[in-house]
Amino acid sequence: MELRKDPITRSWVITGDDPTGPRVESVCRFCPDAASAPQVIATMPNTGGVPWSARALVHPTPLYHIEGEPARRGDGLYDRMHSVGAHEVLVENSRHDHHLWNASEAEIEWFFRMAAERIFDLKRDPRIKYVSLFKDYGGSAGQEFSHPTSQITATMFVPRRVLYELRAGREYFLTKERCVFCDIINQEERQALRVIESRGDYIALCPYAPRVPYEAWILPRNHDAAFEHTALVRQGQLADLAAILRRTLQRVRTFTEEFHLVLHTSPSSQHPSKTLGYWKTIDDDYHWHIELLPVLGSKARSYTFKEVYYSPVSSETAVKQLREAKIDG
Ligand SMILES: [Zn+2]
Ligand SMILES: [Zn+2]
Ligand SMILES: [Zn+2]
Repeated sequence: MELRKDPITRSWVITGDDPTGPRVESVCRFCPDAASAPQVIATMPNTGGVPWSARALVHPTPLYHIEGEPARRGDGLYDRMHSVGAHEVLVENSRHDHHLWNASEAEIEWFFRMAAERIFDLKRDPRIKYVSLFKDYGGSAGQEFSHPTSQITATMFVPRRVLYELRAGREYFLTKERCVFCDIINQEERQALRVIESRGDYIALCPYAPRVPYEAWILPRNHDAAFEHTALVRQGQLADLAAILRRTLQRVRTFTEEFHLVLHTSPSSQHPSKTLGYWKTIDDDYHWHIELLPVLGSKARSYTFKEVYYSPVSSETAVKQLREAKIDG
């Protein structure tokens, strides 16, 4: 596997011939009694009669390896490098059937604390530019394991979509001296057209220009660029985040079981890029958030191969249906 940069769009892609092919999961390797568990990186303490509450493990077939040098090099006009970085599996719960939508708030809080500690730790590696957390649930979403898991990748580049957000956040801040996400939250709260729910320090809303039907974002209402900062410093508020995530997932799941979840946090500030200058105002111009992208097979009609997103349910309709969805709480 290696990383190649598209010279036109400047996005990195990971490519190569995967020797392992699709995996068949016979027994769960993430349950506490698994015979051959992958290498454990960190464990959150046991609570309420379970051996542990959340865990980080090395991905069994990692896309990125922590050892070695990226050896970034040119090939004529092209750029390539080795896939150096980290690829971890975050086991959200020791119980095989406790998912983010049916686990207790306390259990989801442990998962967030685990995630925050891993992101914080990986960002200290001076080679790492960005740490991504994501979850793919359902066959069409590319789910890999049956156990409740998310994944973390730590890369030597900033993924393209995050880069768009960072550039847009910086540009907005340069002209207005305000955070664009804070402004979005203020306007959405004032208009009350697309807010699914507010809970303590957190808000869930349908974005004004959704990429897919029922797309939902969860943001902290108080400005903070880094998720791991909020999660480690303001631990008392994690219960609200756990509750709003669980409730939003329950709402989305009344329309489809399959979804992608991504956490967008600030890039590593150990990389103050002089030419790009993203990080000079990063604490003020970026605002962490979670994006939920439901996968609706029948409505995934694509125009010109996703160059223009097509979402046949407007945010104003989606928010009404999501608010009225019957959930357990
Ligand atoms: Zn399991
Ligand atoms: Zn903000
Ligand atoms: Zn985002």
